[in-house]
Amino acid sequence: MPKTMTRMAVDAKPEEMNPYAIALEQLASVATILGLDDDIHAILQKPKRELTVNFPVNMESGGTRMFTGYRVQHNTSRGPAKGGLRFHPETDLDEVRALAMWMTWKCAIVNIPFGGAKGGVVCDPKTLTKAELEDLTRRYTTEISLVIGPDSDIPAPDVGTNGQIMAWIMDTYSMHAGHTVPAVVTGKPVSIGGSEGRLDATGLGVALTTEEAFQKLGRQMNGAAVAVQGFGNVGIAAARLFYKRGAKIVAVSDVKGGIANAHGLDIPALTAHVAATGSVVGFAEAEPLSNEEILETACDVLVPAALQGQITEANAPKLRAKMVVEGANGPTTPGGDAILRERGILLLPDVLANAGGVTVSYFEWVQDIQSFFWSESQVNARLARIMRRAFAEVWNASETHKVDLRTAAYIVGVARVAEATLTRGIYP
Ligand code: NAD
Repeated sequence: MPKTMTRMAVDAKPEEMNPYAIALEQLASVATILGLDDDIHAILQKPKRELTVNFPVNMESGGTRMFTGYRVQHNTSRGPAKGGLRFHPETDLDEVRALAMWMTWKCAIVNIPFGGAKGGVVCDPKTLTKAELEDLTRRYTTEISLVIGPDSDIPAPDVGTNGQIMAWIMDTYSMHAGHTVPAVVTGKPVSIGGSEGRLDATGLGVALTTEEAFQKLGRQMNGAAVAVQGFGNVGIAAARLFYKRGAKIVAVSDVKGGIANAHGLDIPALTAHVAATGSVVGFAEAEPLSNEEILETACDVLVPAALQGQITEANAPKLRAKMVVEGANGPTTPGGDAILRERGILLLPDVLANAGGVTVSYFEWVQDIQSFFWSESQVNARLARIMRRAFAEVWNASETHKVDLRTAAYIVGVARVAEATLTRGIYP
């Protein structure tokens, strides 16, 4: 194996906006701090397995349409691969690779026995009928059934997917197996082996890690002003749980636009408005706001909970948040990160802050395997214990190494994965 450190070629997008290039850059900086062996670094740079599938779906309007999907397993040294499925028109292989690598570090940071994976289908689920979406999901599941399974790789929801889609995946996999296999996928409805607490888990993890940070800084959640970009699985739960803890949600946005109210939005009323209209836009008692403006809202906590590449070199100087808590995966580019650091804006990184989702997915998998289910309070108590322990380990690493929390989180996660890889040895 070559002894030199290698940088992999990636697609010709602007470098800092390509998520895979960003993920490699983040790994390289931690490899230097950890003094990681070049061979181990080279192993960790590459996804272990990448599957691309092209498949037809019968459209209700007549004829068939071809779709492309991916499933990437980055590393399985610590256990089966685990990671969400994204249905989005702009998803591509580099994005899925980056998200798979981030999953490896995230599972190691919260110390659950999984490796990292991610999947995606290039499509806009909002433009498909329910029957087309079901057919697409079932055919994609069949295509990737070569690599997924309860012992090998367990998908979950991500952008553009939900519990219903997870249910179709479970059913399709089970039909092929000839018996029900609930542990093949997490984020399922509770009626078919999902876990209590899974819907809110990522948002709860965001709220819990923010609470821990506030405690370290001697500040109060009660009355804190919070802005949330993205009002989907993660953003809705985060906004509701901050609101329940006495915070003021001063701005939220989704793909159609944003709204603001400096006195605080009524989150239960807003959630009902979104359920009825499909967007936060048009909510009464709020000012309209653009998606650029929401990131520049004056607030105590900014939660990017939409997509990657939102806080960049261009807008980081304009942020007026005291703390950024990454609900989304990869919302801050390395250039944006550096500016926030210089400006003394504390950032709780994605691999820690949004790890509540995969942690409760782990609980769901455990419950499915043992066919013995826990109450919501048991799930939430176990989640809180894991999130607080992970926060403390990352905070301590940041003090020991005198680094920011993202670097500290990577130090914890990458060191655990490197140790597992070394301990297992290279086969054959
Ligand atoms: P989702 O599809 O349920 O919601 C995404 C939200 O972002 C929607 O409200 C959408 O309108 C909005 N959005 C999309 N583009 C936007 C833009 N340009 N500006 C503003 N808003 C925009 O997805 P989700 O599951 O909530 O995931 C959001 C992020 O959180 C992703 O980065 C995902 O990888 C990450 N994440 C999700 C989970 C989970 O459990 N679902 C766990 C960890 C991390």
